[in-house]
Order: sequence, then structure tokens, then C-alpha cells
Amino acid sequence: MLYVEVILPLPLEGVFTYSVPDIMAEKVKMGVRVLVPLGKSKTYTAMAVRTHSQKPDFQTRDILQVIDAEPVLLEKQLKLWQWIATYYMAPLGDVFKAALPAGLKAEENYKPRTVRCVTLAENLRTEPSMQLAMSILARALKQQQTFATYLHLSHWDETDGETPPQHIEEIACDELLNAAHASDAVLRQLINRRFLTVYQREVGRLNTTGEAHPENILPLSEAQQDAMNQIRTEFMRHNVVLFHGVTSSGKTEIYIHLIQRMLDEGKQVLYLLPEIALTVQMTERLKRVFGSRLGIYHSRYSDAERVEIWKKQLSDNPYDIILGARSAVFLPFTRLGMVIVDEEHETSFKQQDPAPRYHARSAAIMLARMYEGAHVLLGTATPSMESFYNASTGKYGYVKLTTRFRDVALPEIRVVDVKDLYRRKMMKGPFSMELLNAIRAALKAKKQVILFQNRRGFAPMVECRVCGWVPKCKNCDVSLTYHRSQNLLTCHYCGFTYAVPKQCPNCESTELTGRGYGTEKIEDRVRELFPGARIARMDLDTTRSTGAYSRIIGDFSSGRTDILIGTQMISKGLDFGNVAVVGILNADTMLNYPDFRAYEHAFMMLSQVSGRAGRRGDRGLVILQTKSADLPVIRQVVDNDFAGFAHDLLEERRMFHYPPYWRLVYVFLRHRDEHTVESAAIEMASRLRQSFADRVLGPDKPSVARVKTENIRKIVLKLENGIDLNLARQLMREAREGLLSDKHYAAMNVYFDVDPL
Ligand code: ADP
Ligand code: ZN
Ligand code: ZN
Repeated sequence: MLYVEVILPLPLEGVFTYSVPDIMAEKVKMGVRVLVPLGKSKTYTAMAVRTHSQKPDFQTRDILQVIDAEPVLLEKQLKLWQWIATYYMAPLGDVFKAALPAGLKAEENYKPRTVRCVTLAENLRTEPSMQLAMSILARALKQQQTFATYLHLSHWDETDGETPPQHIEEIACDELLNAAHASDAVLRQLINRRFLTVYQREVGRLNTTGEAHPENILPLSEAQQDAMNQIRTEFMRHNVVLFHGVTSSGKTEIYIHLIQRMLDEGKQVLYLLPEIALTVQMTERLKRVFGSRLGIYHSRYSDAERVEIWKKQLSDNPYDIILGARSAVFLPFTRLGMVIVDEEHETSFKQQDPAPRYHARSAAIMLARMYEGAHVLLGTATPSMESFYNASTGKYGYVKLTTRFRDVALPEIRVVDVKDLYRRKMMKGPFSMELLNAIRAALKAKKQVILFQNRRGFAPMVECRVCGWVPKCKNCDVSLTYHRSQNLLTCHYCGFTYAVPKQCPNCESTELTGRGYGTEKIEDRVRELFPGARIARMDLDTTRSTGAYSRIIGDFSSGRTDILIGTQMISKGLDFGNVAVVGILNADTMLNYPDFRAYEHAFMMLSQVSGRAGRRGDRGLVILQTKSADLPVIRQVVDNDFAGFAHDLLEERRMFHYPPYWRLVYVFLRHRDEHTVESAAIEMASRLRQSFADRVLGPDKPSVARVKTENIRKIVLKLENGIDLNLARQLMREAREGLLSDKHYAAMNVYFDVDPL
């Protein structure tokens, strides 16, 4: 009897064993999907990972069906899944769910697009039978013409007549009818008389057109060439190299050179970006050089497209380069040579919710390890503390590029202390005079402006003027944001919307006012202040529809908009040539964020946004408005002093036992009932303390302690470097199992966030 271990697409740990009926035994192997029963009446598409013939000591059930003839999952991919499940303490079933496009999880959903095609009938594929065919057809002129057109389109008439062509070409019926100016009836006669054979061919929805144009690769400057040589040298000694190049130093051009080298060696490249918005510009830059050798993969693509890319990567003719967001690490690669993690410091590389809470940078490093000689290049202008530390200890190679391309100066950053200006009533809404003057001057010089405000909506908070009542989400512990275009209050945590109350439910006053500025309100004010300017906004609300990203970015790139207002979406990696002024309206929300990473994030965000200014030609100007002008981190941003910033921060992290010196694991508990979650959290913390002693902090209420009607508690575990992680994970799991075995807490959701961000 044969048994197969499968992964189920459910939040379950480990694998499950089924028996294989004899008639299916031949077909079952690692990487094929099988249909399996579960419970009384459910069936699931599961992934086969191992077959064996040891009878388990429980009653197994038979698999129902083998779905694939060939594996859809490679051994290396499975290894990556297993690493993610182990390292991030996530159920293997959740990794399976995250990794596979939905269309591969349930075959029913996926309908390949087909096209009706014809080829030359088998028995006609010799010269004598062909001549016979032509003479028979001489009496049906239209059919003969159509048949001749087929021969022409399929290049048969170019053969020497002696040796039949190696490859009998298929021609789409539509194409043939078009070329022959024939009706479908004529074609049907040819098919019925067995001159042509018809069938449905599965076709890709993928764009596979576009020649590669290696000649479009730009020659590198001396500094770039130098950096590239250093990267290649570092790769001789390190699997991972951190490439620290200031904004607009031309990192992307260097990547393009490195990619071309990989392709010349017959290797594949995975190019990861943190944000879908960025793939728009990058796609254009890469397409120009690599044409149809480039494939793009991210969650904005339809599921059918993602299934096709997946299958193409398993075929004999895969894309050589995949450009994608986080989830692209899960694609099959057969000859991976390099992974580029661009903007490696970006926190969106880490999946927050749901499980698996994995970091794509770490996953990429693990992925590359499985391929002989494959390397990882981490690129950024502002390295993450983790990568910077790994580079400084020699674990990673390190290459620096300190000059911008064409030696354009880094922008001048002027700090405007708005605390003082507000007190002296010298602000015009959210704008200082200095910023308004700079915008005015830029517009006059036909230059462009970027305004950065990291809050979407109209007013981040609504308040009753009389009693101070603030509307809050009934599901979450957060105040609601007013969105004027929809005239609704929205919860940014659960997405729930509410009508705007006419009066305060507390004191019945009708004086409800919005407080603070979201991007929507900024847009409004800018329109009032600069009536002649063409203005666009890029945030989550304006980019919901497909194509919106490309439109907004395209309009700004080509100069059809003058002022672009946006959230962090506009801060990263975008390359616009004509931006003279960047305005950062309020740096304080970032600086005041209650998290040990607040300064790290603020430094990166501020440096990155600033980096959008003056990328070509004249020096750019950044106006940075803040109430905390005296903070050292502001000075470090202004001086572009990454080294000083990193030095201070790392010293602090070392002293207070934070990453990269110590490892963090957050334990979250969620439950509807507040008392239950509170007592469970206390119990869990005490169980953890039995093994981890004072490495356990908490439980505490996180800053948003209720989301989607669930109350949340958080326990922090700090583990010193060098600790036995396998054992630590084992002890954490045991503590959770111990807690959940108490029937009081059986319904408690307890999960781990390893290396949280
Ligand atoms: P980074 O990725 O470091 O921010 P980019 O690669 O976007 O920088 O380069 C900044 C700008 O300089 C881009 O517009 C790019 O096209 C241009 N550039 C960079 N290197 C070259 C080169 N070798 N030749 C011509 N233009 C270049
Ligand atoms: Zn009130
Ligand atoms: Zn909510």
C-alpha cells in the first residue's frame, strides 16, 4: 500500500497522511496536487510532498484524485515553505495558502483561455500526398486558396519539398480566415475532409511580445562601474552583498548590467520591490532592455495571470527575469542566479497579517542558498539596521556609492520649525510661508513639486467642539477618519464606514469639526492656493482601480501634473526628473510613533522622500516641517549622515537589548472577550517565564488594543543572539499548547510574530 503525505490549505501545522488507491499510485509524486477528503463531507486540493509505504498507526483515508500529471511545485520551493513555517512559527498550511495563486489551490476556478487552431493533417505531411491533396482541391477553389494560405502561413511552401519540416506549425483559425478572406464554412469543409486538423490550444494571457534590446543598456559612469566591480568581487566571498548607494546614484542601472551578465550565463534573476506602485516605473525601465524575457508578478495581477506565470516558470521557456513584490519569492525557478532586493529597508517586505508573517528579504536569502552559486544583492540608500549590522560584522559584503549620477548634488534640506510658527500664528493651514514660496517659485520655473503627508483621508480625526467627543470605530480601538469625497467616516484598521453624525451623541451639539490634515484636505487647500496648477494625489484611496498607479505616475513623469500629493506611496524609489521641491508637511507623526523603530522608520522615510528632489540637473530643495526640529535624527537627515545616525541607533539597540543584537518575538493573543484575553495573556506570560525568565516582557495592551471586535494583548520575548532557536521555538509552542489545553482558552487565537517590524 502506498501512502502520501500532503499539505492542506488550512491553518494547520505539519503534513497529513492519506492512502493512495492502486490505480493512482503511478501518478502520485512530490509536487502534484491531490484531491483529499476531510471530515464528513469536505474535500480539499492538497499538495503531495512525500510518498512512502509505512503503514501509519491510524486509519488513513484514500485520496480521491490526482490533479496534475507533472509537479507544480519544485523540491526547492517546498524547502522554502518548510523553512518559513519553521522560522516564522507559522502553520505549513498557511504558507501553502500564501505561496500558491488561488487558481492553483482550487482547480475549478481556473479556466485557461483557449484558441481554436489548425495544423496540417498527419497523413498529408509528405510531398506526394501534398500534391495529391492540391489536385483534389483544384475543384473547390475557395478551399484550395484557404489551404494554400495555411501552407504559406505555416512556412510549408518554403521547404524544399523533399524533407518535411521538422515542426508542423499550428495556425489560429481566426488568423487563417483573415488572411485567406474565407468564411468559417470553408474552413469547416477543409477540416471535415481531413486536410486540416482542428483543436483548442491553451494560450497565455501573458504578454510575451517585445524583443530584448541589450543595446539599450546605458554605459555606466566611472563611479558606477567601480561599484559594480566591487559588488562582483564581494560576491566571490559573500552570498549576500549590501549595496548602499545614495538616492539617484544610479543603482538601478547597475542592476541592469548585473542582470544582463546573469542572463548571458543562462541564469535567472528575481528582482523584488517592496511596493506595487514601484513596479510600474521599473517595468518600463526593464522592458526597454529585456523585452519579453521579463515577467511581472504581484497581487494586483489577476489570479489567472498569476497561474499562467507560475506554469510558465515550470515550462521549458520560463521568464529569465521576474520583477515582483513580496510573493514572487514563491515562484518556481529552475536556474536562479541572483536575487535583487531593491529598497531592502522597506518594512512592506514583511507580511503582517495573516500568517505566515515572513520577511521577503530573509526568504530571498534562503531561496538563493538553495541554488548553486546564487547571490543576493540588497540595494538601498538607507540600509535597515539588520543589514547594516550584518555588513559591518562581515556576514554580508558591503559596497557604497556616495555620489549621485552626473554628480547632481543631494537636495538641500531646510528644516522649518512649525511649533514656533503655529504659536506666532504664521502658518497658513498646514503650510509654512517658506514652503508656499518654494512651491510658487518651482511652478513659475515650470518645475514640479511633491508634497508628502503620511495620512490619507480628509481629516484624521473628528471632534465635538463642545464636549470633545470623538467618533470611534465600534470594532476597533481607533478614532475614525473623515473622507470628504464619500462623506463618510472610515476606520483604517477594519475598513468599516459610518455616516457622519449630524450632532454629537454625547451633548447634542452640532459643532463637529475635523482635526488634522489628510492628503485629501491637503489637495483641497493646494487647489485653493494654486488655482492654475495641475494637481494629483496618490494614496490608497486614489489607487484602488487597476491602472490608477500607472496613470498617476505616468502623468507626473511626463509633466502633465505639476504637484503630486501623496502618502508613503510616493516616497520610495520613484524616479522623476523635474522635481524641484519636496515638501514634508508633518514629520511628527512618524517621530512620535510609540515603537523602538520609530526613528529608524522616520530617518528612512524622510531621506527617501527627500531623495525624490532634484534627481537631474539643478539641486533640489526639501522643506521639512516639524515640531521637533531639535531632535538629533532631524539633523542627521539634513546632513545625510547615515553613519552617525546608525552609530547612535545601534548603540541604543545594544544597550536596551533590541535587534540586531537581540532577537524579538511578539506573542499576540486575540479574543472577543476582554477579560478572557487579559487573563489568558497573564497566564501565557507566566508559562513563558518558566522557560524564558526575564526575557519575557508584558503582557501589554498594544497601541491599538482592539481590532475587528477582537481584543489584543501582546507579550514580548527578547532572545539573545546565540540562543538555541529550535529549543526556544519548542518551548514557545509548548507554552501555547499548555494554555490552549485549558478549555477556558480553547477558542483563543495565539500566534507568534518572529522578527516583528
Ligand atoms: P537609484 O536607483 O540609485 O535611485 P537610478 O538608477 O534611478 O538611481 O538613477 C537615477 C537617474 O539617473 C535615472 O533617471 C537614471 O536613468 C539616470 N542614470 C543612472 N545611471 C545612468 C547611466 N549610466 N547613464 C545614463 N543615465 C543614468
Ligand atoms: Zn459633544
Ligand atoms: Zn475598525
